[in-house]
Amino acid sequence: MSIVTIHFGFDRAAAGLAGEGRRLADASNSELHAIAINGGAADLARVADRVSSIDVDYQPEACLAALAELCHGATTILFANDTYSQELAPRLAHRLGGSCVGDGVGVELRDGAMRVTRQVYGGKAQAVIALKRTPGVAWLRARSFVPAPLRDTPCEIATITTPAFATKTRIIERKREAQTEARLEDARVIVSGGRGIGGPEGFHAELEPLAELLGAQMAASRAACDAGWAPPTWQVGQTGKKVAPELYLAIAITGASQHMAGISEAKNIAAINIDPDAPIFRHARFGIVEDYRKVVPLLREKLKKMQ
Ligand SMILES: Cc1cc2nc3c(=O)[nH]c(=O)nc-3n(C[C@H](O)[C@H](O)[C@H](O)COP(=O)(O)OP(=O)(O)OC[C@H]3O[C@@H](n4cnc5c(N)ncnc54)[C@H](O)[C@@H]3O)c2cc1C
Repeated sequence: MSIVTIHFGFDRAAAGLAGEGRRLADASNSELHAIAINGGAADLARVADRVSSIDVDYQPEACLAALAELCHGATTILFANDTYSQELAPRLAHRLGGSCVGDGVGVELRDGAMRVTRQVYGGKAQAVIALKRTPGVAWLRARSFVPAPLRDTPCEIATITTPAFATKTRIIERKREAQTEARLEDARVIVSGGRGIGGPEGFHAELEPLAELLGAQMAASRAACDAGWAPPTWQVGQTGKKVAPELYLAIAITGASQHMAGISEAKNIAAINIDPDAPIFRHARFGIVEDYRKVVPLLREKLKKMQ
Protein backbone atom coordinates (compact mmCIF):
# COMPACT_ATOMS: atom_id res chain seq x y z
CA MET A 1 0.00 0.00 0.00
CA SER A 2 1.24 3.46 -0.67
CA ILE A 3 -0.48 6.73 0.06
CA VAL A 4 0.13 9.89 -1.94
CA THR A 5 -1.00 13.41 -1.02
CA ILE A 6 -0.82 16.17 -3.62
CA HIS A 7 -0.37 19.79 -2.54
CA PHE A 8 -0.27 23.20 -4.16
CA GLY A 9 1.89 25.10 -1.63
CA PHE A 10 1.64 24.67 2.14
CA ASP A 11 -1.40 26.41 3.60
CA ARG A 12 -3.98 25.26 6.16
CA ALA A 13 -5.59 22.92 3.60
CA ALA A 14 -2.22 21.36 2.72
CA ALA A 15 -1.44 20.86 6.42
CA GLY A 16 -4.84 19.17 6.98
CA LEU A 17 -4.38 16.97 3.91
CA ALA A 18 -0.87 15.93 4.99
CA GLY A 19 -2.24 15.20 8.49
CA GLU A 20 -4.92 12.91 7.08
CA GLY A 21 -2.37 11.22 4.79
CA ARG A 22 -0.08 10.65 7.78
CA ARG A 23 -2.93 9.17 9.84
CA LEU A 24 -3.91 6.74 7.06
CA ALA A 25 -0.29 5.77 6.38
CA ASP A 26 0.39 5.07 10.07
CA ALA A 27 -2.86 3.09 10.45
CA SER A 28 -2.08 0.91 7.42
CA ASN A 29 1.68 0.69 8.00
CA SER A 30 2.30 2.37 4.64
CA GLU A 31 4.58 5.02 3.26
CA LEU A 32 3.33 8.58 2.85
CA HIS A 33 4.58 10.21 -0.34
CA ALA A 34 3.77 13.93 -0.54
CA ILE A 35 3.97 15.73 -3.88
CA ALA A 36 4.52 19.49 -3.60
CA ILE A 37 3.58 21.50 -6.67
CA ASN A 38 5.04 25.01 -6.74
CA GLY A 39 6.16 25.26 -3.11
CA GLY A 40 5.61 23.74 0.30
CA ALA A 41 8.16 20.90 0.01
CA ALA A 42 10.18 21.90 3.10
CA ASP A 43 7.14 21.77 5.41
CA LEU A 44 5.83 18.54 3.86
CA ALA A 45 9.25 16.94 4.40
CA ARG A 46 8.58 17.18 8.15
CA VAL A 47 5.34 15.16 7.83
CA ALA A 48 5.80 12.70 4.93
CA ASP A 49 8.27 9.82 4.43
CA ARG A 50 9.13 10.95 0.90
CA VAL A 51 8.59 14.26 -0.88
CA SER A 52 8.69 15.04 -4.60
CA SER A 53 8.81 18.70 -5.50
CA ILE A 54 7.65 19.94 -8.90
CA ASP A 55 7.96 23.49 -10.15
CA VAL A 56 5.74 23.85 -13.14
CA ASP A 57 4.19 26.67 -15.11
CA TYR A 58 0.71 25.33 -14.33
CA GLN A 59 -1.01 23.66 -17.23
CA PRO A 60 -3.34 20.74 -16.49
CA GLU A 61 -1.91 18.42 -19.17
CA ALA A 62 1.72 18.94 -18.11
CA CYS A 63 0.86 18.59 -14.44
CA LEU A 64 -1.22 15.48 -15.10
CA ALA A 65 1.59 13.82 -17.05
CA ALA A 66 4.04 14.41 -14.18
CA LEU A 67 1.55 13.24 -11.54
CA ALA A 68 0.62 10.08 -13.49
CA GLU A 69 4.29 9.11 -13.49
CA LEU A 70 4.87 9.93 -9.81
CA CYS A 71 1.66 8.21 -8.62
CA HIS A 72 2.28 5.00 -10.54
CA GLY A 73 1.64 2.07 -8.17
CA ALA A 74 -0.04 4.17 -5.46
CA THR A 75 -3.18 2.73 -3.87
CA THR A 76 -4.61 5.92 -2.35
CA ILE A 77 -4.24 9.43 -3.76
CA LEU A 78 -5.57 12.46 -1.89
CA PHE A 79 -6.06 16.04 -3.04
CA ALA A 80 -7.44 19.12 -1.23
CA ASN A 81 -10.48 21.04 -2.49
CA ASP A 82 -8.83 23.87 -4.43
CA THR A 83 -9.69 24.38 -8.09
CA TYR A 84 -6.47 22.79 -9.39
CA SER A 85 -7.14 19.65 -7.36
CA GLN A 86 -10.76 19.41 -8.46
CA GLU A 87 -9.62 19.72 -12.05
CA LEU A 88 -6.86 17.12 -11.78
CA ALA A 89 -8.29 14.43 -9.46
CA PRO A 90 -10.81 12.77 -11.85
CA ARG A 91 -8.43 13.00 -14.78
CA LEU A 92 -5.62 11.40 -12.79
CA ALA A 93 -7.94 8.60 -11.64
CA HIS A 94 -8.95 7.93 -15.25
CA ARG A 95 -5.33 8.02 -16.42
CA LEU A 96 -4.33 5.44 -13.76
CA GLY A 97 -7.43 3.24 -14.21
CA GLY A 98 -8.74 4.06 -10.73
CA SER A 99 -11.92 5.46 -9.19
CA CYS A 100 -12.51 9.01 -8.01
CA VAL A 101 -14.81 10.78 -5.56
CA GLY A 102 -14.97 14.45 -4.60
CA ASP A 103 -15.87 16.64 -1.63
CA GLY A 104 -14.94 14.06 1.02
CA VAL A 105 -15.18 14.86 4.72
CA GLY A 106 -13.74 11.54 5.94
CA VAL A 107 -11.56 8.73 4.54
CA GLU A 108 -11.06 5.16 5.73
CA LEU A 109 -9.14 2.25 4.30
CA ARG A 110 -10.91 -1.07 4.73
CA ASP A 111 -9.14 -4.22 3.45
CA GLY A 112 -7.04 -1.91 1.32
CA ALA A 113 -10.09 -0.32 -0.36
CA MET A 114 -10.91 3.33 0.12
CA ARG A 115 -14.19 4.57 1.61
CA VAL A 116 -14.96 8.25 1.46
CA THR A 117 -17.68 9.96 3.49
CA ARG A 118 -19.54 12.85 1.81
CA GLN A 119 -22.31 15.11 2.92
CA VAL A 120 -25.51 14.89 0.86
CA TYR A 121 -28.85 16.72 0.78
CA GLY A 122 -27.21 19.99 1.85
CA GLY A 123 -25.51 18.36 4.87
CA LYS A 124 -28.63 16.66 6.23
CA ALA A 125 -27.26 13.15 5.61
CA GLN A 126 -23.95 11.43 4.96
CA ALA A 127 -23.11 8.94 2.21
CA VAL A 128 -20.18 6.53 2.35
CA ILE A 129 -18.77 5.78 -1.11
CA ALA A 130 -16.67 2.62 -1.49
CA LEU A 131 -14.21 2.99 -4.38
CA LYS A 132 -14.01 -0.23 -6.35
CA ARG A 133 -10.92 0.38 -8.43
CA THR A 134 -7.32 1.09 -7.48
CA PRO A 135 -5.97 3.67 -7.06
CA GLY A 136 -8.72 5.38 -5.10
CA VAL A 137 -8.48 9.12 -5.76
CA ALA A 138 -10.36 11.68 -3.66
CA TRP A 139 -10.42 15.40 -3.11
CA LEU A 140 -11.29 16.37 0.43
CA ARG A 141 -12.45 19.38 2.44
CA ALA A 142 -8.89 19.40 3.68
CA ARG A 143 -9.01 22.40 6.05
CA SER A 144 -11.16 20.54 8.53
CA PHE A 145 -8.66 17.66 8.96
CA VAL A 146 -6.21 17.76 11.84
CA PRO A 147 -2.66 18.71 10.74
CA ALA A 148 0.11 16.30 11.71
CA PRO A 149 2.79 17.55 14.12
CA LEU A 150 5.93 18.60 12.24
CA ARG A 151 8.98 16.39 12.89
CA ASP A 152 12.35 17.99 13.65
CA THR A 153 14.14 15.89 11.04
CA PRO A 154 12.85 16.27 7.50
CA CYS A 155 12.90 13.48 4.93
CA GLU A 156 14.66 13.91 1.60
CA ILE A 157 13.12 16.02 -1.16
CA ALA A 158 13.43 14.84 -4.77
CA THR A 159 13.15 17.73 -7.21
CA ILE A 160 11.35 16.74 -10.40
CA THR A 161 11.73 18.69 -13.60
CA THR A 162 8.72 18.42 -15.88
CA PRO A 163 9.70 17.76 -19.48
CA ALA A 164 8.24 20.04 -22.15
CA PHE A 165 4.85 18.55 -22.83
CA ALA A 166 3.17 18.61 -26.21
CA THR A 167 -0.29 20.04 -25.68
CA LYS A 168 -3.02 21.47 -27.84
CA THR A 169 -3.58 24.25 -25.28
CA ARG A 170 -1.88 27.55 -26.09
CA ILE A 171 -1.62 29.99 -23.20
CA ILE A 172 -1.93 33.52 -24.50
CA GLU A 173 -1.80 35.45 -21.24
CA ARG A 174 -1.87 34.81 -17.48
CA LYS A 175 -3.67 37.21 -15.14
CA ARG A 176 -3.34 36.94 -11.39
CA GLU A 177 -6.43 37.86 -9.37
CA ALA A 178 -5.66 40.75 -6.99
CA GLN A 179 -5.49 39.28 -3.47
CA THR A 180 -6.93 42.04 -1.29
CA GLU A 181 -7.73 39.99 1.78
CA ALA A 182 -6.99 36.57 3.29
CA ARG A 183 -8.99 33.62 1.99
CA LEU A 184 -12.34 33.12 3.70
CA GLU A 185 -11.72 29.37 3.65
CA ASP A 186 -8.68 29.87 5.91
CA ALA A 187 -10.36 32.25 8.39
CA ARG A 188 -10.38 31.25 12.07
CA VAL A 189 -13.21 33.62 13.00
CA ILE A 190 -16.04 34.67 10.66
CA VAL A 191 -18.79 37.26 11.15
CA SER A 192 -21.59 36.52 8.70
CA GLY A 193 -24.72 38.51 7.91
CA GLY A 194 -28.03 37.52 6.36
CA ARG A 195 -31.13 39.13 4.89
CA GLY A 196 -32.25 40.20 8.35
CA ILE A 197 -29.44 42.79 8.37
CA GLY A 198 -31.76 44.82 6.19
CA GLY A 199 -29.34 46.56 3.82
CA PRO A 200 -25.68 47.30 3.02
CA GLU A 201 -25.39 49.97 5.74
CA GLY A 202 -25.99 47.30 8.42
CA PHE A 203 -22.98 45.38 7.07
CA HIS A 204 -20.75 48.48 6.96
CA ALA A 205 -21.83 50.25 10.15
CA GLU A 206 -22.56 47.31 12.46
CA LEU A 207 -20.95 44.05 11.30
CA GLU A 208 -17.64 45.20 9.81
CA PRO A 209 -16.51 47.09 12.99
CA LEU A 210 -17.44 43.98 15.01
CA ALA A 211 -15.39 41.80 12.66
CA GLU A 212 -12.45 44.16 13.05
CA LEU A 213 -12.58 43.93 16.84
CA LEU A 214 -12.73 40.13 16.66
CA GLY A 215 -9.98 39.88 14.04
CA ALA A 216 -12.60 38.13 11.91
CA GLN A 217 -13.37 37.95 8.22
CA MET A 218 -16.75 38.88 6.78
CA ALA A 219 -19.16 36.50 5.08
CA ALA A 220 -22.84 36.50 4.12
CA SER A 221 -25.79 34.35 3.16
CA ARG A 222 -26.81 34.03 -0.45
CA ALA A 223 -29.87 36.20 0.18
CA ALA A 224 -27.62 39.07 1.32
CA CYS A 225 -25.22 38.58 -1.60
CA ASP A 226 -28.02 38.32 -4.15
CA ALA A 227 -29.47 41.59 -2.79
CA GLY A 228 -26.10 43.24 -3.53
CA TRP A 229 -25.46 44.11 0.13
CA ALA A 230 -22.32 41.95 0.24
CA PRO A 231 -19.92 40.91 -2.56
CA PRO A 232 -20.50 37.45 -4.10
CA THR A 233 -17.07 36.35 -2.82
CA TRP A 234 -18.51 36.47 0.73
CA GLN A 235 -21.21 33.88 0.01
CA VAL A 236 -21.07 30.79 2.19
CA GLY A 237 -23.08 27.65 1.53
CA GLN A 238 -23.94 24.96 -0.95
CA THR A 239 -23.30 27.25 -3.92
CA GLY A 240 -20.79 29.41 -2.04
CA LYS A 241 -17.65 28.82 -0.02
CA LYS A 242 -17.14 25.96 2.43
CA VAL A 243 -15.55 27.33 5.58
CA ALA A 244 -14.17 25.71 8.72
CA PRO A 245 -13.51 28.45 11.30
CA GLU A 246 -13.14 28.07 15.06
CA LEU A 247 -16.09 30.48 15.43
CA TYR A 248 -18.85 31.30 12.93
CA LEU A 249 -21.05 34.15 14.14
CA ALA A 250 -24.28 34.05 12.12
CA ILE A 251 -26.19 37.31 12.44
CA ALA A 252 -29.76 37.54 11.12
CA ILE A 253 -29.30 34.34 9.13
CA THR A 254 -32.13 31.83 9.28
CA GLY A 255 -29.95 28.72 8.85
CA ALA A 256 -31.39 27.19 5.67
CA SER A 257 -29.90 23.78 4.80
CA GLN A 258 -28.13 25.30 1.77
CA HIS A 259 -26.39 27.80 4.05
CA MET A 260 -25.52 25.15 6.64
CA ALA A 261 -23.86 23.05 3.89
CA GLY A 262 -21.07 25.64 3.86
CA ILE A 263 -20.46 25.72 7.62
CA SER A 264 -20.77 22.09 8.65
CA GLU A 265 -17.05 22.03 9.47
CA ALA A 266 -17.21 25.11 11.74
CA LYS A 267 -16.05 24.22 15.25
CA ASN A 268 -18.48 26.59 17.00
CA ILE A 269 -21.54 28.36 15.63
CA ALA A 270 -23.01 31.34 17.48
CA ALA A 271 -26.22 32.98 16.27
CA ILE A 272 -28.12 36.22 16.80
CA ASN A 273 -31.68 36.12 15.51
CA ILE A 274 -35.00 37.68 16.51
CA ASP A 275 -36.85 34.44 15.79
CA PRO A 276 -36.43 31.86 18.60
CA ASP A 277 -37.56 29.14 16.15
CA ALA A 278 -34.95 29.99 13.49
CA PRO A 279 -33.30 26.70 12.37
CA ILE A 280 -29.82 28.16 12.99
CA PHE A 281 -30.40 27.72 16.74
CA ARG A 282 -30.54 23.93 16.26
CA HIS A 283 -26.90 24.02 15.15
CA ALA A 284 -25.60 26.87 17.30
CA ARG A 285 -23.56 26.34 20.45
CA PHE A 286 -24.39 29.85 21.63
CA GLY A 287 -27.46 31.86 20.70
CA ILE A 288 -29.03 35.23 21.46
CA VAL A 289 -32.70 35.82 20.59
CA GLU A 290 -32.75 39.57 20.01
CA ASP A 291 -32.63 42.28 17.35
CA TYR A 292 -29.02 42.38 16.11
CA ARG A 293 -29.16 46.21 16.21
CA LYS A 294 -29.37 45.98 20.00
CA VAL A 295 -26.87 43.13 20.50
CA VAL A 296 -24.05 44.03 18.11
CA PRO A 297 -23.32 47.51 19.61
CA LEU A 298 -23.21 45.93 23.09
CA LEU A 299 -20.82 43.24 21.87
CA ARG A 300 -18.58 45.88 20.34
CA GLU A 301 -18.53 47.87 23.60
CA LYS A 302 -17.62 44.75 25.56
CA LEU A 303 -14.85 43.80 23.11
CA LYS A 304 -13.41 47.34 23.19
CA LYS A 305 -13.20 47.18 27.00
CA MET A 306 -11.42 43.82 26.78
CA GLN A 307 -8.69 45.16 24.47
C1 LIG B 1 -30.01 25.42 -5.10
C2 LIG B 1 -29.90 26.42 -3.99
C3 LIG B 1 -28.65 26.77 -3.53
C4 LIG B 1 -28.53 27.69 -2.49
N1 LIG B 1 -27.26 28.00 -2.04
C5 LIG B 1 -27.15 28.83 -0.98
C6 LIG B 1 -25.87 29.14 -0.45
O1 LIG B 1 -24.83 28.72 -0.96
N2 LIG B 1 -25.81 29.95 0.63
C7 LIG B 1 -26.93 30.47 1.24
O2 LIG B 1 -26.79 31.20 2.24
N3 LIG B 1 -28.15 30.20 0.74
C8 LIG B 1 -28.28 29.41 -0.37
N4 LIG B 1 -29.53 29.18 -0.87
C9 LIG B 1 -30.66 29.97 -0.35
C10 LIG B 1 -31.23 29.43 0.95
O3 LIG B 1 -32.21 28.46 0.66
C11 LIG B 1 -31.88 30.57 1.77
O4 LIG B 1 -32.86 31.19 0.98
C12 LIG B 1 -30.90 31.65 2.24
O5 LIG B 1 -29.80 31.04 2.89
C13 LIG B 1 -31.62 32.58 3.21
O6 LIG B 1 -30.75 33.59 3.61
P1 LIG B 1 -30.97 34.34 4.98
O7 LIG B 1 -30.98 33.37 6.11
O8 LIG B 1 -29.99 35.46 5.03
O9 LIG B 1 -32.40 35.03 4.76
P2 LIG B 1 -33.83 34.74 5.39
O10 LIG B 1 -34.22 33.33 5.19
O11 LIG B 1 -34.73 35.80 4.89
O12 LIG B 1 -33.62 34.92 6.96
C14 LIG B 1 -33.39 36.16 7.58
C15 LIG B 1 -33.28 35.89 9.09
O13 LIG B 1 -32.98 37.11 9.74
C16 LIG B 1 -33.73 37.17 10.97
N5 LIG B 1 -33.86 38.59 11.28
C17 LIG B 1 -34.61 39.53 10.62
N6 LIG B 1 -34.42 40.74 11.18
C18 LIG B 1 -33.53 40.58 12.21
C19 LIG B 1 -32.94 41.46 13.14
N7 LIG B 1 -33.19 42.77 13.13
N8 LIG B 1 -32.10 40.93 14.06
C20 LIG B 1 -31.81 39.61 14.12
N9 LIG B 1 -32.35 38.72 13.24
C21 LIG B 1 -33.19 39.20 12.29
C22 LIG B 1 -35.05 36.48 10.62
O14 LIG B 1 -35.66 35.98 11.81
C23 LIG B 1 -34.55 35.34 9.71
O15 LIG B 1 -34.25 34.17 10.42
C24 LIG B 1 -29.68 28.28 -1.91
C25 LIG B 1 -30.94 27.91 -2.38
C26 LIG B 1 -31.05 26.99 -3.40
C27 LIG B 1 -32.42 26.61 -3.88
